[in-house]
Amino acid sequence: MTARILVVDDIPANVRLLEVRLLAEYFEVLTANNGPDAIETCENGKVDVVLLDVMMPEMDGFEVCKRLKSDPATSHIPVVMITALDQVSDRVRGLEAGADDFLTKPVNDLQLMTRVKSLVRLKSLTDELRLRASTTRNIGIEELLSRDFASEDTRPRVLLVDERKSSVERIQKMLRNSAELDVATDPNAGFFQAAETAYECVLISTAFSDFDALRLCSQLRSLDRTRFLPIMLLADEGEEGRILRGLELGINDYLIRPIDQHELTARLRTQVRRKRYNDQLRASVALTIEMAVIDGLTALHNRRYLDSHLQTLFDRAVARRRPLSVMITDLDRFKSINDAHGHDGGDDVLREFARRLRKNVRGIDLACRFGGEEFVVVMPDTEGAVAEKVAERIRAEIAQAPFAIGADGKAIEVTVSVGVSSLLKGPDSVAALMKRADLALYEAKSGGRNRVVAKAA
Ligand SMILES: [Mg+2]
Repeated sequence: MTARILVVDDIPANVRLLEVRLLAEYFEVLTANNGPDAIETCENGKVDVVLLDVMMPEMDGFEVCKRLKSDPATSHIPVVMITALDQVSDRVRGLEAGADDFLTKPVNDLQLMTRVKSLVRLKSLTDELRLRASTTRNIGIEELLSRDFASEDTRPRVLLVDERKSSVERIQKMLRNSAELDVATDPNAGFFQAAETAYECVLISTAFSDFDALRLCSQLRSLDRTRFLPIMLLADEGEEGRILRGLELGINDYLIRPIDQHELTARLRTQVRRKRYNDQLRASVALTIEMAVIDGLTALHNRRYLDSHLQTLFDRAVARRRPLSVMITDLDRFKSINDAHGHDGGDDVLREFARRLRKNVRGIDLACRFGGEEFVVVMPDTEGAVAEKVAERIRAEIAQAPFAIGADGKAIEVTVSVGVSSLLKGPDSVAALMKRADLALYEAKSGGRNRVVAKAA
C-alpha cells in the first residue's frame, strides 16, 4: 500500500523520527514545520494522511485541523493528531476540531502503522468515489463534500458483539449518550443481526471462550450487505498479532482494554462519520449514473442507453437463436403542435405519449426516447407479427383519446406513425435492423401517417 503522508511538527527531530519509520514501510513522506505550510501542502499536493503535532507555536494543531476540515478541498484528508500521553483533554479537543484519529507520544510503532494504513484504505475508497462522481460531472458533489457530517448528530445505531456481561455493561454505560446500542452475546446471532439491521458500526470483542472473533470479521466483510459496515475490534493487551490479522481482513479500527470512554466515543464517531460520507457519495454516484441514461422529460431510457444496450440484446438474440423486434415511433406533425401550443404544450404531449407507450409494452421491452419526438421500443423474444400487433395497439391507444395539455387541460388530437422491423434469420446487424425500421417508418409517414408499417423479416 503506497500513500503520501504529510508529517507536521515544529521540532525537526520529531519530523525526522516519523519520516524514517514511514519510509521504512515504503510510504512517501512530505514534511512541514508549521501550520500554514502544512495547509498549503494539503491544498496543492496529493496528501493521503496528515500526522499533525498539537503543540506548535503561532498556529497550533487544533487550528490547522479545523481549517483543513472546513475547506471542501481538504476536508476529506484524514488527520491524525499527535498528543502528549497524559492529555485526555487534548484528544477531545482534537476530535472536536475534526481529527480522524490520534496517537500519543512516544508513538508506538504498531499503532502508527495500523492507524495510518487503515486511514489510507478509507481514503482510497473515498478518492475513488470522488473521482467517479467528478468524471460524471456531478453538480451536487461540492455541496456534498462541504457538509459537516460530524455536526448532524443523529445517534448512530451500533451493534456490540460480546459475551462478557461486565464488559457489555461497561460499554453500554460509555455509549449511553452517543449511540443506540444493541447487544448480541452470541457471535452467530450477531452475524445475522448485523446483516439484517442497518447498523452504522459493529464492535466485536476478541474475548470469546469458544469462538474466533476474526471469523466473524471475515464473514461480515464477505457479505454484500455488510461489506461497508465499519468494524471495531475490542482487544486485550498482547493481542497485537490478532489485531494485525484483523486489519488485513478489513477491520477499520481497534481499541485495547481497559477501554477509555473518550477514545471509544471518538473512534466510533470517526467511523460513523466516514460511513455516512461514503454512503452519500455512493448514492450520489448511483444517481448520477442513472441520470446519465434516463431522459429527463419522459423518464424513459435515453439514446445513450439504447446505443449501448441494443447491441447486447441483439447479440443475445443471435446467440440463442431467438427472435427480436424493434419499433420506431414518430409523432405526426409534432412541429405544428409545438407551433400552436408552445414548447410546454409539446412537452406535455411527449410526456403523455411516453406514459401510454409504457403502459403498452412489457417489462422486458426496452422503451427509449430516441430524440425529439422519436421513440424506440426494443422487444426481445418477439416475432415480427407480434411486434406489429403491439405497434398497432399503441397507434390505436394514441389516436383514440385526445391528449390533455397545459394548465387548463386543453384536449388535442395526436397521432403516431410506427415502423417495425425484426431480426433476420440470415446475417444481420444492429445498424441494418434499425435501418429497416426507419424505412418502414418512412413508408408509414408517406402512406398518410397514423399507421403501422412492418418490414417482413
Ligand atoms: Mg510541537
